[in-house]
Amino acid sequence: MTKLDEKVEPMFQEVLKRNPGETEFHQAVREVIESLGPVLVKHPEFGHHKIIERICEPERQIIFRVPWQDDKGEVHINRGFRVEFNSALGPYKGGLRFHPSVYLGIVKFLGFEQIFKNALTGMPIGGGKGGSDFDPKGKSDDEVMRFCQSFMTELYRHLGEYTDVPAGDIGVGGREIGYMFGQYKRITNRYESGVLTGKGLDWGGSLVRPEATGYGATFFVNEMLKARKDSFDGKICSVSGSGNVAIYTIEKITELGGKVVSCSDSNGYIYHEAGIDLDLVKQLKEVERRRIKDYTNYHKDAKYVAGGNIWQIPCQVAMPSATQNEINGKDAALLVKNGCIAVGEGANMPTTPEGVKVFLDAKIAYGPGKAANAGGVATSALEMQQNASRDAWSFEFTEKKLEDIMVNIHRLCYETAEEYGEPGNYVVGANIAGFIKVAKAMVAMGLI
Ligand code: GLU
Repeated sequence: MTKLDEKVEPMFQEVLKRNPGETEFHQAVREVIESLGPVLVKHPEFGHHKIIERICEPERQIIFRVPWQDDKGEVHINRGFRVEFNSALGPYKGGLRFHPSVYLGIVKFLGFEQIFKNALTGMPIGGGKGGSDFDPKGKSDDEVMRFCQSFMTELYRHLGEYTDVPAGDIGVGGREIGYMFGQYKRITNRYESGVLTGKGLDWGGSLVRPEATGYGATFFVNEMLKARKDSFDGKICSVSGSGNVAIYTIEKITELGGKVVSCSDSNGYIYHEAGIDLDLVKQLKEVERRRIKDYTNYHKDAKYVAGGNIWQIPCQVAMPSATQNEINGKDAALLVKNGCIAVGEGANMPTTPEGVKVFLDAKIAYGPGKAANAGGVATSALEMQQNASRDAWSFEFTEKKLEDIMVNIHRLCYETAEEYGEPGNYVVGANIAGFIKVAKAMVAMGLI
């Protein structure tokens, strides 16, 4: 691991001490403050106001019990979280993750990244994140509904369109948002559309929101390729995952002329040289909630590798769209060796620090999640705008707005990296540009 700048090292040590055992949070903090030494030189006021120390401490952390009953009447207890990290730029905004791996360290890493990601979008949104260790896999609709109702029965008191606005993440999609919105409405007696995003189209949702993270990540990679006088045309691409982010990444890559040959789920990956049949993936994953293994029942020329490593497949563009730390140093080296020239992170923190170093040393186009996958939350902010004005925009209009936002984020990261003497380094660009926006607002608002 690279050594930290001596100005930020003590701050990092303090984070380790104050947050024992939260390894993913440590990783996310380190990744950001690693870039910030030169910023403190240019902006001594940030040091004076202890902005980094303040940013690393969430404004509020809520942990609560979520009891619910399964279809057989058995009682289960899960743990719910909401970390309201930073509200300098707007109400806390960020998704809810339902996955057995969720604990405070995961929620805090996600909430921390969300602060900078949301700042990069240029929209008025602060950073937060939440979730539960509930596993929606294999649960009936009724069980998911009862869990969501119990979760919201506690969380509602902390939310509000001007306070905290959750959305989806892994394990939380339109179905879960529906159940939570219903319960919020019932408890508060308010039809407060802007309190949750990712809603259904008939009740306050926005067109393009389901597609937004995947489309946005692909737009971002397209901009990185353009900056290198290249394009998606004819590129062989690998997209991990097969959830909402992966599906719409595959769709947009295909539209832009690339060919996606592989996708995966937590059990294994599919390799289909002819190109992934997206309609089938949508049917299996979105409609029938089945495993990706079943893909080969319909395409005999496709291969399923149980427990395999998708990054062994040679590709020119890799878009990790599953979960954190899915590309380690070895995977990154293999990708580069096999001819990968661009990586765009649809997932949050999918590359380990060793992997990031490999990509940066190889000087390939590497778009870190907080820049590349910001299209999801940006479109959530567009949903909030439509809710506030009781309006509903067309698909084309909304998609154009999303594309403009991604082009702007790319430009901001690109120019900031140049300004700080690291041309082409989108990690430095994203961290510094996001941080400065939040830091300036915090200075302006005084010691709060
Ligand atoms: N969970 C998504 C993210 O990681 C979206 C959050 C939102 O739309 O608020 O950015």
